[in-house]
Amino acid sequence: VGAVQKMYYLRRMKLSVRDIHKSYGSMEVLRGISVDVAESAVTAIVGPSGAGKSTLLHIMGTLDRPNSGSVLIDGVDVTSLRDKALSRLRNTTLGFVFQSHRLLPEFSIVENVAMPCLVGGMGRRQAMERARCWLERLGLAERLDHRPSELSGGECQRAAVARALVNDAPLLLADEPTGNLDAARKEQVFKDFAALARQGLTVLMVTHDVHAANFADAVYTLENQQLIRSN
Ligand code: ADP
Repeated sequence: VGAVQKMYYLRRMKLSVRDIHKSYGSMEVLRGISVDVAESAVTAIVGPSGAGKSTLLHIMGTLDRPNSGSVLIDGVDVTSLRDKALSRLRNTTLGFVFQSHRLLPEFSIVENVAMPCLVGGMGRRQAMERARCWLERLGLAERLDHRPSELSGGECQRAAVARALVNDAPLLLADEPTGNLDAARKEQVFKDFAALARQGLTVLMVTHDVHAANFADAVYTLENQQLIRSN
């Protein structure tokens, strides 16, 4: 796998949360979480399985709603946005990467990466061109027309990162992004994130992999329903 190419982000966006509370029934998962995510840097939230990391990431990414508190994207509280505005925000501002790459097996890599552009209404030619650029940027220029099954797990995860960023999202949210990868490929994903952050991207990942902390600029631990800065 090649290196991440140098390109710079022009669009920056602040992501913060204030006093987030979340419970499932009588089980309290998040108790008054407040944090300003560092811009153009990698932030890792670590903690054991079941600590509430995914819940917090989903709330920060508008995929879930808190019981109380606010999620601020560029200073605007997005917790009260309606469906249409939320979809637009997710499509243009937030990129998501999950443990599994979730690439569609019947489409080529470049088609998979073009998908968010097509969904956003871009013409096919332009969408494919953008997807190609992003895959080149992430060192996958040789894999454009392959199917996901023909790529390694690490390459698929890189393609998933390209898909998350293809609309030039300034915020990348990653939920256990290395959960399915071996040690060498895990490290590659963390290094990719660090390289993209140096180009201006804001990366927030949650993981139980304490190794991630070595590649992050800011590290927090989620424990006892609260977030504690650990570096
Ligand atoms: P982590 O990502 O740290 O492993 P999660 O955020 O997935 O933790 O889960 C935190 C706790 O909340 C767990 O006990 C989990 O079972 C519970 N939980 C998560 N989602 C739901 C849900 N939709 N309904 C009920 N309980 C949930």
